[in-house]
Amino acid sequence: MSKTDHVVIIGAGVAGLAAAVSLDMAGVRATVYEGRCDNTDTGISFVIRESGLRVLGDIGVLDAVRKHSFPMPKRFFTPGCPGYTENDWADYGTGNRSISREDLLGILRAEVRHRAIEVCHGKRLHSLQQHPESVVASFADGTRAESDLLIGADGRSSVTRGCIFPSVRLQHARAWCVYGHSGIDDLDPASRTALEEGAGLVMFDAELGFLAYRDDPQLPRKVTWMLFGGTERKIPTKSFELVDREMLMRELEDGLRKHSPVAADIVAATLRVAPTQVFTLPALPAWSAGRVALIGDAAHPVDPIIGAGTAFALEDAIYVAKMLREHHYLDAFYYLHADRHHRVDEMIARSAAGLEASMRLATFEIGWDLPDEVTPAELVPAPNR
Ligand SMILES: Cc1cc2nc3c(=O)[nH]c(=O)nc-3n(C[C@H](O)[C@H](O)[C@H](O)COP(=O)(O)OP(=O)(O)OC[C@H]3O[C@@H](n4cnc5c(N)ncnc54)[C@H](O)[C@@H]3O)c2cc1C
Repeated sequence: MSKTDHVVIIGAGVAGLAAAVSLDMAGVRATVYEGRCDNTDTGISFVIRESGLRVLGDIGVLDAVRKHSFPMPKRFFTPGCPGYTENDWADYGTGNRSISREDLLGILRAEVRHRAIEVCHGKRLHSLQQHPESVVASFADGTRAESDLLIGADGRSSVTRGCIFPSVRLQHARAWCVYGHSGIDDLDPASRTALEEGAGLVMFDAELGFLAYRDDPQLPRKVTWMLFGGTERKIPTKSFELVDREMLMRELEDGLRKHSPVAADIVAATLRVAPTQVFTLPALPAWSAGRVALIGDAAHPVDPIIGAGTAFALEDAIYVAKMLREHHYLDAFYYLHADRHHRVDEMIARSAAGLEASMRLATFEIGWDLPDEVTPAELVPAPNR
């Protein structure tokens, strides 16, 4: 029987929404507080690893996700480089799916609505106060919310994390990444056909990396793409995240053309774009303090290039709910970190080795229903630790 009555969740991203659904399944009431005033999202798409798909199955939304997502390519090609054609990237492709952020977040929101879980918008967490019997969240609009526990699912720049670990700082990872959605009507016929048929386009050299593939089964002439590169120092926000989008796209297209004309053509046909700089966080000593826990990017921002952040967020979400279903909150939060941090820390450490690091994601599983005698330490399969 659950020992927790009400949990406040900060953030209505993948981690927050999935945690709300999982807690509801565990018989714990959750209220979600989201800083944005509405559901508009500036992101582009998600890779969902197999372990994340399993969690989506456990929380009852996998059919909808399958309908709106596309299998990650098993074959990648590099136009103009015969030696590189038809790379078999089974580790990146097998069983994983690509979905637009709008679709995945929309599906999770629908499930949250279906379960009558309250989501309050325009509530930006400002500070926290922990009391012997409760935790009080204060929001930038002057309002407050009191609950038994609070879960910070507020992303890589988490205010929740800042409240419980004030000395921990994000570190720039000397990398940048731009995501986009593009039409492919104007590409050369061979590249267009390969992309339409579900192959991915890849280009890597010493300076830049580029991947493009489909993420929407209904739109064969649209691809999602990711362009990434290194930088000695963080690029000034005014010249990157806040720069005029047309200007950014022109610069990226010009810079990319000498590396790969087809990739440059895809960037030139961009419909939506999202630039982001890559940050890392030193591994935290714990993912909780008192009545407050962290999940998803708030606990462990993941290099977006390995496409593991969504799977980790989903795994954390279901795992914290399972632990709260079984245990006193102090134990639940302890097991959340103790049982999961090796896997997450290892993947983050290995992300420098690039896509190779992703291979071990596929073998991980958290099932929802467990025999009573299983102890938390046994929940994480040994091969992943
Ligand atoms: C543009 C972009 C594209 C990405 N693409 C991929 C991909 O293809 N594959 C992949 O695996 N990962 C991708 N990632 C990373 C991925 O989004 C995250 O790793 C993953 O979704 C974890 O989600 P989260 O819910 O923990 O955090 P987030 O998705 O960041 O959600 C946090 C939520 O909290 C809200 N919030 C923040 N601060 C506050 C506050 N103070 N008070 C209240 N609410 C707050 C935010 O508005 C947001 O809704 C991408 C990231 C970005 C930025």
